[in-house]
Amino acid sequence: MKRYSAFAIAREGLRQHTGWERAWASPEPKSSYDVIIVGAGGHGLATAYYLGKNFGITNVAILEKGWLGGGNTGRNTTIIRSNYLQDSSAAIYEKARSLYETMSQDLNYNVMFSPRGVMMLAQTQHEIRGYQRTAHANALQGVSTEFIGPEQVKKLVPIINIDGPRYPVLGALWQPRGGTARHDAVAWGYARACSDMGMHVIQKCEVTGIRREGDKVVGVDTNRGAIDCNKLGVVVAGHSGQLADMAGFRLPLESVALQALVSEPIKPCMDVVVMANTVHGYMSQSDKGEMVIGGGTDSFNNFTQRGSFHHIEETVRALVETFPMISRLKMLRQWGGIVDVTGDRSPILSKTPVDGMFVNCGWGTGGFKAIPGSGWGFAELIAKGDSPLCDEFSMFRFREGKFIDESVAAGVAH
Ligand SMILES: Cc1cc2nc3c(=O)[nH]c(=O)nc-3n(C[C@H](O)[C@H](O)[C@H](O)COP(=O)(O)OP(=O)(O)OC[C@H]3O[C@@H](n4cnc5c(N)ncnc54)[C@H](O)[C@@H]3O)c2cc1C
Repeated sequence: MKRYSAFAIAREGLRQHTGWERAWASPEPKSSYDVIIVGAGGHGLATAYYLGKNFGITNVAILEKGWLGGGNTGRNTTIIRSNYLQDSSAAIYEKARSLYETMSQDLNYNVMFSPRGVMMLAQTQHEIRGYQRTAHANALQGVSTEFIGPEQVKKLVPIINIDGPRYPVLGALWQPRGGTARHDAVAWGYARACSDMGMHVIQKCEVTGIRREGDKVVGVDTNRGAIDCNKLGVVVAGHSGQLADMAGFRLPLESVALQALVSEPIKPCMDVVVMANTVHGYMSQSDKGEMVIGGGTDSFNNFTQRGSFHHIEETVRALVETFPMISRLKMLRQWGGIVDVTGDRSPILSKTPVDGMFVNCGWGTGGFKAIPGSGWGFAELIAKGDSPLCDEFSMFRFREGKFIDESVAAGVAH
């Protein structure tokens, strides 16, 4: 595959852009692969990429029922941070954040990683204590964060109102190298690199059944026929419960809709990401100038990939006290994705009761930031049978009571 470069852009500019290749191939499925990954979201594609790059396993198919990146990966608000409380969480999220730093060069695809800084506002005494605790934990974990006061918050975000009558800003947990990246580009960059390694990214190919011989997985049924495999990685976010059901076991997950919206584009006014967990909203400004606003999950289980009016109202109402200027913005569009939430708000990267079948799910409202770290660890788990990044995230931890409690860090915010 031809490399993208400034020289290539100049050359194509001179010949009416007629020389670009397709970024990835659209092959017909083969009858058999060494590894099948179900789900061409960011986590599935990253897993395939690191299977090839780190372990030389390239006889791989990534099966996607819709279009690649069309699930939560293309629907999120792109916040990247690694300021989690528990050691195992900090390890995988910080691995991911550090891989984002060089992802564009690694994939030769501009994922527009923007380490503009992420702040999580403390608007109650309880939050101050919680975030100070996280900052201390992060210091021990080697994750660079600090607790800053309200004046510094105001300096970094001039449009913020720190003297709100109900929820004044009392400080913030600040991660200067957190930020955002272009979500579609992350999926497209991984897909292009996988295709370049000879892997098959097969869109419009829905897995409808999982075939076993005894306790061992031997393949999948799809709407394009049966396909055999030695190993199977299931990476389908909100549909994980359905795939587990096809294999004959249950996962401790709930699927719910999570929504977001964007405003009309305005001039640059905020160059950091701000999360306000007490009032339940968060905001950043996109490169196009839109204010990207996210809220909470629906309070009932569902599989609805669209937005609803009451969420716009709730989320914007929550943020208006802290950001009075947004009351005068027109909202342009809203959408939803189906997120898969576990009881301890930590993901599952695990072997399963079916030999050769692995699951990567439970990222809930905050898995975009984890894509490269999750792919790195999950590829190792599939290739070697264990991985230091994944071992504590086994699905069996719920049976054993070994929860990785991140409900404060990930239950609400992203
Ligand atoms: C509104 C919203 C805002 C968010 N904001 C953030 C944020 O700011 N920061 C953050 O870190 N995270 C955020 N998230 C969470 C994040 O988007 C997800 O955790 C992450 O994208 C999950 O990626 P994935 O690859 O596991 O799943 P997905 O991208 O959903 O990919 C799974 C794929 O599996 C496919 N699939 C399902 N069933 C089948 C089948 N039977 N056969 C074949 N394919 C199948 C689906 O079509 C889908 O493409 C947000 C999510 C939403 C919805």
